[in-house]
Amino acid sequence: MTRGGYTVKMSGDLHKTFYLETFGCQMNVHDSEKVIGTLVHEGYQQVETVEQADLILYNTCSIRDKAEQKVFHRLADYKKLLAQGKKFGVLGCVAQQEGEKIFERAPHVSVVCGSASYRNLAQMLVQLEAGNQAAAQELGSRKPEARSPLRITGLDDRETDKCFETEFTARTNPHRGYITIIEGCDKFCAYCVVPFTRGKERSRTSESVLAEARQMADLGYTEIQLLGQNVNSYKDPAGKKSFAELLAAVGELPGIRRVRFTTSHPRDFGRDIVDAIDAIATLCDHVHLPVQSGSDRVLKAMQRLYTCKEYLERIAWMKSAKRQISITSDIIVGFPGETEEDFSETLSLLDEVGYDAVFTFKYSPRPNTPSLALEDAIPDQEKSRRLEVLMARQREIQIKRYQKYIGDTLEVMVEGKNDARRQWIGRTSHNKTLNFTAPAESSLKPGTYVKVKATQSFPNSLLGELVI
Ligand code: SAM
Ligand code: SF4
Repeated sequence: MTRGGYTVKMSGDLHKTFYLETFGCQMNVHDSEKVIGTLVHEGYQQVETVEQADLILYNTCSIRDKAEQKVFHRLADYKKLLAQGKKFGVLGCVAQQEGEKIFERAPHVSVVCGSASYRNLAQMLVQLEAGNQAAAQELGSRKPEARSPLRITGLDDRETDKCFETEFTARTNPHRGYITIIEGCDKFCAYCVVPFTRGKERSRTSESVLAEARQMADLGYTEIQLLGQNVNSYKDPAGKKSFAELLAAVGELPGIRRVRFTTSHPRDFGRDIVDAIDAIATLCDHVHLPVQSGSDRVLKAMQRLYTCKEYLERIAWMKSAKRQISITSDIIVGFPGETEEDFSETLSLLDEVGYDAVFTFKYSPRPNTPSLALEDAIPDQEKSRRLEVLMARQREIQIKRYQKYIGDTLEVMVEGKNDARRQWIGRTSHNKTLNFTAPAESSLKPGTYVKVKATQSFPNSLLGELVI
């Protein structure tokens, strides 16, 4: 069977169905592609709605409280479906963080599996099926709703050295695909749950990453995105390649036209990454380098392991590159103790760097994290105010950044068409959306590359015309 251009072997029967909803970051999206591939291999069939499914799975995110609450709302919404014999599973970061407490909050859940334990998921589902059959025989004529669900957990693998490598990845986009090269995180920033939910840092061998990239290129993928919570903290267990060398090697594979990587941690961001971008045309000219705050005092309290000066040094390397590298960031406002002065230093840093985009977050206290011990004294209203000021400042910066592209001819990957606007949708190597018009007879295919001249700019996108 082929899903999204990736071949998945089938085994067993097809009568078991599952529905999977994913919350959170690209790593979760890619984990879900692997979970889907694994389940399909086990004989499950993916369905589009909760109503059609025997097994309902949520791959969850716990980076902020809001994200975590979403999954409990979903579970409450569909609790009534237990009476129809459906089974529920919670995967990912909330599963790892809350563990067996999930069974207390949502007693209709049968499977709780943290992201570090996906390697065991197939086995857990076999146990679930076997257990269900045994329970059904034992309970005889009792109605399904009278049975209490079986409970299976996979939570013990945070210290594992093994990554979730599977040949059964059901990629959803046939042109652009993710490869996780490093899992977990050892940095322990004061505000962040990731080291507690995704476990310790562990890298795949460069050989295995390159084998997967080659296989994708053979299947027709032209864009590869290397993933990791801190992708550039990558350490080849076989000691053969540095991160920059791996990046270059993926970029040099025949058939690969674009390589992206996210997220980079400033402390581990070496000049060799910029040199690789300069040397290898297929490496995209975009770097996501989250700063979190423009105040050294706050960075120290956040345990970010760098100062503003060190961060700006890395920005200077990128600005002095031969190619024009687009730079994006993440910023948290309202971290405990952040003063008005700290915040204004963050605004100054925005001006100094001139980011192409910034993802902004209000500080959200998270379980187990060191900053939980600090008083979250900044009122939510003040956090919202700072967020708005920050976003308004960034919007002004972005308007100017985007205007600079007017008149340039840029290569885009065609992503689709907006029929209502009669515009094609394209993405540049800088990771910018460049919508464009083309003669009516043009029948462009998603996944192809064309040249577009940018004619207008907006705060978040460009508009242009196809260059024939
Ligand atoms: N590893 C990346 C790094 O070090 O920059 C970040 C990964 S994290 C999944 C994505 C973003 O979520 C972070 O950059 C941070 O801005 C935000 N974030 C993480 N924990 C947060 C919290 N407790 N409150 C608000 N935002 C948070
Ligand atoms: Fe979280 Fe910090 Fe690790 Fe990034 S580096 S995942 S922010 S602990």
